[in-house]
Amino acid sequence: MTEKHPFVDIRHAQKAYGDLEVLKDINLTVERGEIVAIIGPSGSGKSTLLRAINDLDPLSSGEVILDGTQVNKTLPHRQYEKHINQMRQHIGMVFQHFNLFPHLTVRENVTMAPKLLKGISAAEADKLAEEQLAHVGLLERIDYYPSQLSGGQKQRVAIARALAMKPKLMLFDEATSALDPELVEEVNLVMKKLAEEHMTMIIVTHEMDFAASVCDRVIFMDGGVVVEEGPPSVVFKNPTQDRTKEFLRKHL
Ligand code: ADP
Ligand code: MG
Repeated sequence: MTEKHPFVDIRHAQKAYGDLEVLKDINLTVERGEIVAIIGPSGSGKSTLLRAINDLDPLSSGEVILDGTQVNKTLPHRQYEKHINQMRQHIGMVFQHFNLFPHLTVRENVTMAPKLLKGISAAEADKLAEEQLAHVGLLERIDYYPSQLSGGQKQRVAIARALAMKPKLMLFDEATSALDPELVEEVNLVMKKLAEEHMTMIIVTHEMDFAASVCDRVIFMDGGVVVEEGPPSVVFKNPTQDRTKEFLRKHL
């Protein structure tokens, strides 16, 4: 069924830190099930844009709409808290650093949010955790502590934790860039599997090969604007903008 509105709709996103304009009128839509890569030099605003999607880093102006509901609504404080907590349940986020709670087991890390935010029982949450850990190939580590896991395993737990909330959208911000090279592939494979299952994903990455093989569309950002976008086959092979060409010369 075709939808009237894009699944994710970012309209005229602007963000400034003092005099520094970090996002300059970004317009970006993502369809349900689409996998979008955001690439670009360091400091181009990729993380800021990603964090703006769940209003962790509020825009100076502009709108973020997810599945027809505006995420970054202006509301009285208590209403806003309620609204944003609701919206964030639909948006899974995975960062460069895993942000697992070190004093909690894998099971506790994964079950915490569903128990707290969805009010489901411990047994139900356990089932969810088992399901998601099996999905990332780590069921046998369910009672380990993060310190007993490799970086790749920690990142896979972080992904399972996000998935346990059954999000509509997954955001990845350089999820593999803090990992030793030999651990990158296991995390990429999990993301690939999610892509095959048509999870809607926005992936900030430095890995051009990964972006080319997994993503439907590539967005090249530089200096707070979208310089160029298109299917990987076009953006990587026949970029039209000089800035894209220069970036790809260094990174391909
Ligand atoms: P990227 O993820 O593409 O490397 P970022 O979104 O992290 O870029 O940063 C974009 C720009 O915004 C950079 O110039 C960065 O220094 C600046 N910036 C990011 N966060 C802040 C902040 N909290 N305060 C001031 N400047 C910031
Ligand atoms: Mg960044």
